[in-house]
Amino acid sequence: MIKVTDLKKSFGKNDVLTGVDIDIAKGEVVVVIGPSGSGKSTFLRCLNLLEQPTGGDIFFEGVSLTKGKQDINKLRMHMGMVFQQFNLFPHMTVIDNITLAPRKLKKMSADEAERIATGLLKRIGLADKAKSYPSQLSGGQKQRIAIARALAMAPAVLLFDEPTSALDPEMVGEVLDVMKELAAEGMTMVVVTHEMGFAREVGTRLVFMDGGKIVEQGNPVDVFANPQHPRTKEFLGKVL
Ligand code: ADP
Ligand code: MG
Repeated sequence: MIKVTDLKKSFGKNDVLTGVDIDIAKGEVVVVIGPSGSGKSTFLRCLNLLEQPTGGDIFFEGVSLTKGKQDINKLRMHMGMVFQQFNLFPHMTVIDNITLAPRKLKKMSADEAERIATGLLKRIGLADKAKSYPSQLSGGQKQRIAIARALAMAPAVLLFDEPTSALDPEMVGEVLDVMKELAAEGMTMVVVTHEMGFAREVGTRLVFMDGGKIVEQGNPVDVFANPQHPRTKEFLGKVL
């Protein structure tokens, strides 16, 4: 579904991605870990062109994202993104947050968009919050709404950038549970997270990044039990 070859991204003189290669198949849950500043967020943001790569190539369903003209809005319809800070529109109700993109980008009727949004809200257990504003919700609820908003576009892949890092500990579980369900339903996901339990349980692949590169990857259980690279050993030694 996604093929990345020698992906590079520099900000001025700061070479943040120094050659990332990865193939991601449909239905995979790729969990990306690594120290702060290793380029995890930049990698995710390049995948959906929130950042413009400075080198290499990204193919999504066989089409190059970096060569030739890309319809970025169309691409983002197929790649949903969930951020650490939720990024809900504060002045809009929950239902409006969820229906905005389907109406504007997919030209869906208001009725159809609301029907889909209501179904998603039921699924995440927040049907009673349709008319609430983000400020009236807990962090865990906001993040579940952000996931529903991404799902409303029926994306082929969901990108998560530390979705539980801004949450109080007691709310982490409810968000991870929604993500686990999506994984079980076969959603293709790329997840940057420090939740090692989630990585081990749900990840089909663990990717360790350091210095703008993928240093090591493999089956999460194997990498946790038997990391090969000294940097992976050092990092896991600190977080496990
Ligand atoms: P991680 O998510 O692994 O912590 P990031 O991808 O956020 O790492 O950042 C890696 C490096 O890229 C950092 O040194 C950061 O300062 C730099 N960086 C990220 N985004 C920008 C930007 N928009 N402009 C300049 N530098 C950036
Ligand atoms: Mg980051």
